[in-house]
Amino acid sequence: MAVTPHAHDHASGDGLLSVEEARERILSRIEPLAPLDVPLTEAHGCVLAREVVAEEDIPSFASSAMDGFAVRAADVAAARATPVELRIVGRALIGRAPEGTVGHGEAMRIATGAPIPAGADAVIPIEDCEVVGERVRVLAPVPEGKHVRPAGEDLRAGEVLVPAGRRLGAPELGLLAAAGAAQVSIFPRPRVVVLSTGDELVEPSRRPAFGQVRDSNAYLLYGALREAGAIPVLAGIVPDDVDRFRETVLSYLIQADAFVSSGGVSVGERDVVKAAFFRRGEVEFFRVAMQPGMPQGFGHIEGKPYFGLPGNPVSVFVSFEVFIRPALLKMMGRRQLARPEVVARLEEDVSGPRGKTQFARVLVRPGPDGWLARPTGGRGSNLIGTVARANGLAVIPPEVETAPAGSEVRVMLFRALEE
Ligand code: AMP
Ligand code: MG
Repeated sequence: MAVTPHAHDHASGDGLLSVEEARERILSRIEPLAPLDVPLTEAHGCVLAREVVAEEDIPSFASSAMDGFAVRAADVAAARATPVELRIVGRALIGRAPEGTVGHGEAMRIATGAPIPAGADAVIPIEDCEVVGERVRVLAPVPEGKHVRPAGEDLRAGEVLVPAGRRLGAPELGLLAAAGAAQVSIFPRPRVVVLSTGDELVEPSRRPAFGQVRDSNAYLLYGALREAGAIPVLAGIVPDDVDRFRETVLSYLIQADAFVSSGGVSVGERDVVKAAFFRRGEVEFFRVAMQPGMPQGFGHIEGKPYFGLPGNPVSVFVSFEVFIRPALLKMMGRRQLARPEVVARLEEDVSGPRGKTQFARVLVRPGPDGWLARPTGGRGSNLIGTVARANGLAVIPPEVETAPAGSEVRVMLFRALEE
């Protein structure tokens, strides 16, 4: 993400960190959460912390793949020339051990999925037989093992079923269930407490008085956290009051694995987040050479990662994509932390501030020869509509002031192209 050849140069002198440096600073201080044993349904989507080894063969017994008769292949070898008659000695049923065995000259009725009785080594499909009273006439020979699903055909005892580090999807859950691994050790989903700071904020259900603003960041973050696989905990709106802010944060410590707050980190006169935690040395604030989303706060409060984002909704979204999402994925034991990227051809000029990486909201779509990307609106970091219309963030490097129409840019995709 946002690896730019010259990004490093811009970190010096003006006190700005490059996007890469800021991200490295954050990620180097993030550790995966302690693994937890959970039932399979809860493990879905999580990364396996400890490999699971098959304790037994899967399947654990040889079974029939057809409805028919379990026989000895050697007995029916002569059926090529003339039919062979065998004595019916019973019935092998699904879900129970067969009663009796199959001896020379004998056959046992068998259903698909039923265990193969001792003595038998092949199954004749019902279509290739004629039943005459107590006897069955076999019209064609079968080789040994025919229509038999052997034990251990899928996996052998001692084999690794799912390696550590694998994210558990539907196939893994099925396999683990088949192997009897009803509980597995995974990296849990972080519970992330979301706070919105600002005297001007009101709940979205309320009609704002003149000058008031609806709290959109909490809901944007709720969705972003869910999409990242984390568990959001909405702590609501906190006024610009340092003590109340600090108390609110501390009151959520017990149920938090991490915190995200928006607002109150700029150089304004009432920067509650700074005032509450900066002086205690718990959260540091740095300026990043990016647009939008420049001031960022990061640190740990009682060991829990704390992300202090700027207030503007687009800054919140971009900061989440560039810094917080990778950090949360790392907490969840994931190894691939970056969004998928495509190279797309710009359909319009995109200009950005010189010396900063610009993350331009674009709509990516397939063109006649490769991907096309069109900006979804203005650069203003208050324009949340530009995010809602987009599916990607085009990364315009610091040394580029205007990326002209027709030029190629890297685009981080934040939703599937068909959505
Ligand atoms: P701040 O970083 O607190 O100075 O806020 C910057 C801008 O973002 C201001 O215009 C705020 O009104 C706006 N803002 C802050 N928090 C939110 C929020 N939770 N939802 C929507 N806008 C916000
Ligand atoms: Mg504010």
